[in-house]
Formats: sequence, structure tokens, C-alpha cells
Amino acid sequence: MQVISTRDSSKSMPALKAILQGIAEDGGLFVPEYFPRLELKQAAEAAEKGYAELAAFVLEKFIDMGMDELRALTKEAYSSFDTEEVVPLAELSADEYVMELYHGPTLAFKDMALQVLPRLISAGLDIHKQDKDVLVLTATSGDTGKAALEGFKDVPRTGIVVFFPVDGVAPMQRLQMVTQDGKNTYVSAVEGNFDDAQTGVKNLFGDAAFRAEVDAAGYSLSSANSINFGRLVPQVAYYVYAYAKLAQEGRIELGEPVNFCVPTGNFGNILAAYYAKRMGIPVGKLICASNKNNVLTDFFQRGSYNADREFFKTMSPSMDILISSNLERLLFEISGREDGTVRQWMDALVSKGGYDVPESARAELETDFYADFCTEEETASAIKRTFAEYGYLIDTHTAVAQCVYEKYVKDTADATPTVVVSTANPYKFTQDVLAAVTGEQEEDAFIAADKLRAATAKAIPAQISELKTKPVLHGGVVAKGDQISAVREFLGKAGV
Ligand SMILES: *Cc1c(COP(=O)(O)O)cnc(C)c1O
Repeated sequence: MQVISTRDSSKSMPALKAILQGIAEDGGLFVPEYFPRLELKQAAEAAEKGYAELAAFVLEKFIDMGMDELRALTKEAYSSFDTEEVVPLAELSADEYVMELYHGPTLAFKDMALQVLPRLISAGLDIHKQDKDVLVLTATSGDTGKAALEGFKDVPRTGIVVFFPVDGVAPMQRLQMVTQDGKNTYVSAVEGNFDDAQTGVKNLFGDAAFRAEVDAAGYSLSSANSINFGRLVPQVAYYVYAYAKLAQEGRIELGEPVNFCVPTGNFGNILAAYYAKRMGIPVGKLICASNKNNVLTDFFQRGSYNADREFFKTMSPSMDILISSNLERLLFEISGREDGTVRQWMDALVSKGGYDVPESARAELETDFYADFCTEEETASAIKRTFAEYGYLIDTHTAVAQCVYEKYVKDTADATPTVVVSTANPYKFTQDVLAAVTGEQEEDAFIAADKLRAATAKAIPAQISELKTKPVLHGGVVAKGDQISAVREFLGKAGV
């Protein structure tokens, strides 16, 4: 399939090439030229053969590779997950299911796409006969960084540099990153918040002199952030899978709608659900759940995006974002695929910190989306309540979705079966989860993990316990705006 840019839809290129490139030259994001159709029956049949088969079935709609190659790719990508189901669905009540997307190597939903993306990049280098290797630059609010590092580590012809906000990630998240092994990996903290780190990376992408430097070192730039089309496509698959599973288990008839409630930050995960809907999966409402950084709630409720506001650090750091990059892909659709309109809105975002969409566009959004947010107190009490009521432990991000789902039901009385999307293992955010369940404040993350296990009987994943003794390999911090120096050091280390 060919993809086009949200800011210039006149030029197209094959999806794999776009994945190698990361972001369009005009600064826009790559989107499919059209939404391919998914036949429900076929999807259900693929899902019966297991997650890897279904994922290949969805990837094949977008990616210029053969089905056999894609099957091999997804089988390998999901083999490191700790459950054969890959994405188990837990039933909380007659109307509510939880889709667990955190069974991959780094315990967050980012693995769903980041175990696939490096393999797509490898294939793309081959198929499109690229002579440059790929240097992946990534800003992370916590989970992307580790998942990208694990996905790319020691993948031939790739290098990866990850930036995280120095005080903006949870202790376990930081430890996961700074202990990363692999010859082609580099991690640095940035003095600033996630938006600063992300803006720094975006600026490097737009810096011609820097690009020439990277080129001379034998690399071309790409991104592992959710702006990369190769992140989006694997994420569509689990929405299709969840739908097919509910039908297979007789919870719904094929064709009946299902809602999805998604804890949202950069708008990548929920956008994939929107894509699944556009491809023919019967989705009712997409419930966009935000934490106290509720810029998206305001956008959906008022049609006005305003990033010029206070930034809060919350217990769900992977959602602490004011500039939701992937929203641009939705804007492209609601503008009627008008690249000029998208350009205007994105320019206004940079120059004025926001933009307004016309009332007709806002009203159209309402048919697909519902949005709300939860405070820190509400998030903590959702963890406590879900454990008390169902014996089911959720992390701080999933709790935001759970809390907003409860608000949604209260507000609308909608009884459509709803899948709450669970994005991280609770032990990644041990201290806050412990405090929510038992009321106990524990300074030490590892002692907190032991206490949480004692209180809930939920097993501590090996990826968490081993962090206690792993050596720290990446201790660097760069000033905001100076991410270039870290990349230069990486290129120096890489021996060029
Ligand atoms: C990244 C992340 C999110 C937010 O997902 P987006 O695609 O950025 O909206 C939510 N929860 C967790 C645990 C994450 O890692």
C-alpha cells in the first residue's frame, strides 16, 4: 500500500519506505492512501489461528510484503511474550472486559508495535535496497524508550538513541532504560519534560546540517515514536483481535458493536482503534481517557486544542503529554483529508499553542469519540476499587481508563460491551499502585514490589526483580536543546 503525508497528500510512497523514513519531509505524518477493508469473517478465522496470524493478516493490508514473510515476522515478534495468547482478555463484568497489552518483554503495550517495527525496518532496508543504515532517535515519556531499546538491540544495520525527561519517568522505567545492554543502544536523560525531549528530537529531524552529519556517518534517520507508521499498523491488530475473540466466545454476535476505552497520551493507541473502525470493525464509541493533563478532553468536548497550559507530573507518566502528535492523523480525516487545513492547524499549534476546529468537525468527532479525564485521587481510587471488587490489579494508566469508563457509563447508561485497554504491568509503577491498594508510602521501589505482592498475590515479573542487580550502563544527561551532543557521542562510539 502507498502512504501519503498529512501535510501534502499529492505525493505517495510505499509503506515500508515511509517506515524507514519515520516522518514526512514536510513535517507531516504518514497515513494510508485509503482505509483497506477488513472482512469480519476472514478476520475471525485468522484470529482463531492465534494472535501472530491475525497480526500478519492486518499488516498485509498495509505493508508491501508477502503474507508468508509477514507470518514469519509476527510469529517471531510475539514469541517473547509471556503468554501464548499474547493479548489475554479478562472479564470484569457482563459488560466490561480488559485487554492486557503488557505481556511483552518490557511490560508495556509499546512492545506490541516495537517488537514488530525493527523487523519491518530490517525488511525495508533489504526490499528497498537502502545503502545507509538506520539511526532511530526517540523521545520517551517512559515506556516507548525501553520497548524501542529492546526491539532494536543488536538488530543489524540499526542504531538507537533514546531520550527521556530527567525527572519525568517512574523509577522502574528509568532503571529499565539505563541498564539497557546491546552494542547499538544509547540512552540519555534530558533536562526538561517529555514535550521538551520530543520537540528536541523533532528539531533534529528538521535540521538539514545535522542530517548531513548523520548521512556522512553512514546513517539515515528514523523514529520509533508513535508518529512512525510502523508503530500504528501493528496496533490496529489487537483491536481486531479483541473484537474477533469476543465474537468467538459468544459474548457478541459478529457485527454487533463494541466500545474501547483507551488511556491516552500521544494518541497513538486510540488512533489505531479508530483505524480498525474505519476498516470495518464494528466499534461503537472510542472512549479517550486522559489524566490531569486533559488537553484531549477539552479538545473533544470543545473543539479547541490548547497546549498552552500548565504541565502536571502524574502517577501515569506515559500520559503526561500536552502535544499529542498522533492527533494530526485524526485531524487529517476530520478535515476531509485537506492537507492545507492540517498545515494551518499545525502551524497554529507551533505559533499560538493551539487551534480551533469548526463546529461541524467537532460534532462529527462526537459520533466516534467520547472523552473525559480523571484526577490523581480518582485514579488511585479506581485501582483500589477494581482490586477490591474484582480481585484484579491494574496499573496507574489502566486505572485512568477504568475511571473514565465508569464516568462514561454513569453519564450515558450505555450498556454496549466495552473493552478497557490495559497498557502496563502494575509493577512498572509499583509505588503508586501499592499506595493506592494499601495506603502505604514506600520509598524503595523494590521493597514496594515485595509489599505489593504480599498484598495482592500478583507475581512480580522477572524483568522487574532483575533490575535490582543489573549494572547501570547509561548515566548521561543533556541540557534541553542539546540532544545533538548525545547523538554525536553515539556516532563517535559507533566508530565513525
Ligand atoms: C504510551 C502509553 C500510554 C499512552 O499511549 P498513546 O499511544 O501515547 O496514547 C498509556 N499507557 C502506557 C502504559 C503507555 O506506555
